[in-house]
Amino acid sequence: MTPGDLAPGKSSGDGEERVNRVESNYRFGALLDQERPVFILRSFLESKRIPHALLFTGPDGVGKRTAATVFSMALNCGEPNADSGIEPCGACRSCRLIRKDQHPDMHVLGSEGNGIRVAQVRELLSAISLKPMEARFRVIRIPDAQKLNLESGNALLKVIEEPPARTIFILSAPAAGDVLPTLTSRSQQIRFHPLSDTSVARLLSVITGVAPDPLSLPASLSGGSMRRALRLMDPEWQTLRNWLVPVLTGPDRNDPLRMLTVADRLAGDQARLSDALEIIESIYRDALVVLSRHTGIYNRDHGDAIAAMAAAVPSAIWLQRIEAVRSARKALESNAAMRLALEVMLLRCTSEESYEESSRGPV
Ligand SMILES: [Zn+2]
Repeated sequence: MTPGDLAPGKSSGDGEERVNRVESNYRFGALLDQERPVFILRSFLESKRIPHALLFTGPDGVGKRTAATVFSMALNCGEPNADSGIEPCGACRSCRLIRKDQHPDMHVLGSEGNGIRVAQVRELLSAISLKPMEARFRVIRIPDAQKLNLESGNALLKVIEEPPARTIFILSAPAAGDVLPTLTSRSQQIRFHPLSDTSVARLLSVITGVAPDPLSLPASLSGGSMRRALRLMDPEWQTLRNWLVPVLTGPDRNDPLRMLTVADRLAGDQARLSDALEIIESIYRDALVVLSRHTGIYNRDHGDAIAAMAAAVPSAIWLQRIEAVRSARKALESNAAMRLALEVMLLRCTSEESYEESSRGPV
């Protein structure tokens, strides 16, 4: 594997990448709202007992990738901070190469399409069969560990069980349950949490140069994910949402004919389809949040419409609608007929009957 192959996994951490252009962010202290993960990572460094496989879990865009980079820098820094002896200097050769994803001993096993193939794992294993070139600790990041299948996971498992000297694996996934149990049981799990709106606003302001505003739409709709917050700043995303939310919360929301026209329009814009489904799910999720009297809805700017809509049907229906959106997402991932999947989804979302009572309703 050449340094050119060391590009970061494309499907993970776009938000962090943009935040990290600010060099001073490559410190443990720059990781916001992740006190516990930082405490655990620092304690590994302090005790000099480094587990050879770590599993970072948590949503996208909360700092998992930054933490992996800072930890890799700290493991290899030539001149760690004199006070703590742990915080990486950020300026030595090793720190600079790691930060720029150009260190010959830092590897990323990314996904190709929907999975990580066994051939990729074998290629990686042959690349790490020799001693590290210059690092004290070689680090192999697997940003989408949930995409390891049985075959590629087993190939990796063998090397995690008997790792080469001075080699550390950092797997990341949304949740431990998404990863093969054989891998989770051999990894030390570190849980990352969604960021507060205030932290998202602070990070956004680093990028935009505009004063932080926790009540801004991207901060309050981000669900604590920088990746999501950055997407929300995209004007096209905002246009899509400004159309969808009123349609799905408005008076025509239970009108099947109207929903078929919505399906039509969604099918016509494939590039934004996954965004659209995420927005739709967020609306139904908010309805459920309102009914369960919790605070923290995503679509705060449409709070009144969502509250009125939520009260019209019981929680079971909202759960059913969320399930309908998730089924459509899965169907689309497996290349099902797009328009049909969208129509089925939106028709299920107009039904006010519980499927148990009506033998699975309109599907
Ligand atoms: Zn350094």
